[in-house]
Amino acid sequence: MTQHPPKNLREQVKVAPYTTMRVGGPCDFFAEVDDVAGVAAACEWAGEQEIEVFVLGEGSNVIVSDAGLHRLVLKIEIPGFEVIDEDDESATLQIGAGEHWDHVVERAVKLDLAGIEAMSMIPGTAGATPVQNAGAYGQEIANTLVEVQAYDRLIHKMATLNREECGFGYRDSAFKGAMSGRYVIVGVTLKLSKQPPAEPTYASLKRYLEAQDIHKPNVAQIRSAVMAVRARILPDPSVVPNAGSFFKNPIVNKRELDRLRLPYPDMPAFEFGDDYKLAAGWLLDQCGLKGAEHYGLKLHSGHALVITNPNHAGYADLMKLVEYVVAVVYDRFGVTLEPEPQFIT
Ligand SMILES: Cc1cc2nc3c(=O)[nH]c(=O)nc-3n(C[C@H](O)[C@H](O)[C@H](O)COP(=O)(O)OP(=O)(O)OC[C@H]3O[C@@H](n4cnc5c(N)ncnc54)[C@H](O)[C@@H]3O)c2cc1C
Repeated sequence: MTQHPPKNLREQVKVAPYTTMRVGGPCDFFAEVDDVAGVAAACEWAGEQEIEVFVLGEGSNVIVSDAGLHRLVLKIEIPGFEVIDEDDESATLQIGAGEHWDHVVERAVKLDLAGIEAMSMIPGTAGATPVQNAGAYGQEIANTLVEVQAYDRLIHKMATLNREECGFGYRDSAFKGAMSGRYVIVGVTLKLSKQPPAEPTYASLKRYLEAQDIHKPNVAQIRSAVMAVRARILPDPSVVPNAGSFFKNPIVNKRELDRLRLPYPDMPAFEFGDDYKLAAGWLLDQCGLKGAEHYGLKLHSGHALVITNPNHAGYADLMKLVEYVVAVVYDRFGVTLEPEPQFIT
């Protein structure tokens, strides 16, 4: 059956305004979809027209090429927030992929449910959280996710993937790797706890709560603390374009850590399974990169891990800055930084 073009299909739409970094040229086609049938129909139409599909949430973790995209950009706006099951211990939530993530956290916290409160203020949609296993302050979506509902573009029908099938890793999942491009996530199911939340272990959060004289914080207090701490260090992308932390914290083994700590005994590192997670921000600080400006972009003076784009520089200049930063850190420490956002070309 020949598909009709998606509702409100537009052509030659500049993608930059739909990303928080404000970088990106025009895409051939752009459509917003707010239900599952719309996702399926748009994917099938694109397939018939032999047009590649790129799935977009709120564009807070993508850097789009200035050359533009010969693709259909499908912006996911599927709503939904429902408690579908509960007992004395927990509640299970069904969330539409297009829900703004922080609204999901806000509503869960109002229901006094624990498990995602430390992930307050992460920009973007709920449907994108499994893609990079979004997380902050010791919580990540993999901890509470039960399953993902998605449209499978390979076999042209809906699929349900459980946590194991998502292949989660540190800021990583199979949606970025082996299954890249295959699934359009339309909903996520989360199981949250009715028990008191785990106490934050992150120093900045602990300091903030202690200063407020809060001991054994509840979920609302943890959310407030996270929001206050984040507001202090992270620039608001609606004011200054940025994509959050631009580099992942490098993971090294014990031998590598020992090598690094010989000349730098104070180098922070956190246990991560059998390995250790270094603080990428600390590495950048040591290289004097905090606040540095190159090619029209800036490493944020409050948090060097964040590259800001106050002058709306383009993709090529951003890539030059990224190459420069990676080279400076490598020359000093022999550690290769990996960007966190996805580059879409
Ligand atoms: C100021 C700031 C702070 C941030 N802080 C954090 C943080 O603390 N922790 C953290 O983990 N991240 C953080 N991020 C990164 C970002 O917010 C998250 O990765 C977020 O989950 C991305 O959501 P999005 O809707 O904007 O996704 P997009 O940027 O639109 O897309 C990201 C990727 O997911 C894919 N995708 C999006 N939606 C779907 C879908 N429905 N189905 C299939 N694929 C999809 C896209 O194709 C793309 O590959 C931050 C970003 C900013 C700007």
